[in-house]
Amino acid sequence: MSANALASARRVVVKIGSALLVDRKAGLKQDWLAALVDDIAGLIEGGAEVLVVSSGAIALGRTVLGLKGAQLKLEESQAAASVGQIALASAWSRELGRHELVSGQILVTLGDTEERRRYLNVRATVSTLLKMKAVPVINENDTVATSEIRYGDNDRLAARVATMMGADLLILLSDVDGLYTAPPETDRNASFIPHVEQITPDIEAMAGLARSELSRGGMRTKLDAGKIATAAGTAMIIASGTRLNPLAAIRAGERFTHFAPAPNPVKGYKTWIAGNLEPAGRLVVDPGAETALLSGKSLLPAGIRQVSGAFSRGDTVAIVAQDGREIARGLVAYDAPDAVKIAGLKTSAIADVLGYEARGAMVHRDDLVMSRTAGKLKAGE
Ligand code: GLU
Repeated sequence: MSANALASARRVVVKIGSALLVDRKAGLKQDWLAALVDDIAGLIEGGAEVLVVSSGAIALGRTVLGLKGAQLKLEESQAAASVGQIALASAWSRELGRHELVSGQILVTLGDTEERRRYLNVRATVSTLLKMKAVPVINENDTVATSEIRYGDNDRLAARVATMMGADLLILLSDVDGLYTAPPETDRNASFIPHVEQITPDIEAMAGLARSELSRGGMRTKLDAGKIATAAGTAMIIASGTRLNPLAAIRAGERFTHFAPAPNPVKGYKTWIAGNLEPAGRLVVDPGAETALLSGKSLLPAGIRQVSGAFSRGDTVAIVAQDGREIARGLVAYDAPDAVKIAGLKTSAIADVLGYEARGAMVHRDDLVMSRTAGKLKAGE
């Protein structure tokens, strides 16, 4: 069933981890890239649209610059990204060009997807590229992104791009072939999981914190990516890219983990809310509010037990149950100081406390997206 996910996908985002593209000593792995691009050209030939999220700028740049040492300083990795990105983009352009495919480079920072207006701009440009049959090659703009406001890993960036573009499949190629019941490098009894219907806390507990030397994302960021993707109706595959022609291998049925898309995915505007990467605050709510939210109501101040974070009106906040489960995300209608003042109050008391006539809901239902763990107790309870 899931091998066909690639055969039937019309719009596919392929994310390539740094360790696949770049060898610490030899630099860019030309043969590997050429074979991958053969696969991509095959998908396009078959009628699919393909978007590439390519890591490797920092890894390639540090090789070109001869930077040694395990950990680079921030300014060194930004300089390395600058040198590496230009080489990376030209390699993609050259390889896609062999198949008479045109490529377009897109470098994004976190704000480009988290701010609604910029998100729509990026989406419009990428749509135009796809209409022109160009292959978008996307990476984080590491050279200008500062540490507090960055994706930091291309797994989540790729999920954000996939959902922004309404892709039906996201493929994460890395040096692991999928999800195991425990990190396989530390647990010899770990067994492989070919299919995940839903990313529950039990599944998340399997990820551990493993990271490979060259890339920033581990299994945890891959599962974060999976939550963003599947909630918006994009299936996800984690597959090994350590062999040549990894996409052909997926089609041939080599093993990988497939994550099913949500049966009732969020749509349009709500996709943007649900995929927001860094909520600016948290609202802890009581069980009555959770029940109300589940029945499609807005979040009123009365059900809020605790407010944290320095958010402003219009920012995304996480709505959390008292047991810590995230139950929804939404755009908050008040600045944090006012939200603190009115938390727990009846709607009729709000105007007196704030000194102005305000809207009733803390998060309006039109600006709210339920999480798949809403209404379910924590594992083991
Ligand atoms: N944007 C980084 C780069 O191109 C990669 C981030 C990641 O490894 O996920 O080097």
